[in-house]
Amino acid sequence: MDMNCPICDRQLQEIDGGGHCESCNQDFRLEARCPDCHQPLEVLKACGAVDYFCQNGHGLISKKRVEFVPVAQ
Ligand SMILES: [Zn+2]
Ligand SMILES: [Zn+2]
Repeated sequence: MDMNCPICDRQLQEIDGGGHCESCNQDFRLEARCPDCHQPLEVLKACGAVDYFCQNGHGLISKKRVEFVPVAQ
């Protein structure tokens, strides 16, 4: 997965559950966002499967459509 640093726009090094920017020395986690309204999705975990739910009326979002955005942690 290609991710760029939201601060300096360099490519992030992939780490467990997110990314790391060497030039900012900053770790990022991936946040799931709705592809329609770009708001954070509620993550529902059930029996090993993960569902993503938009609370702004877009309902369940399949994982293929989810936008993963790096956010500073
Ligand atoms: Zn950076
Ligand atoms: Zn939505």
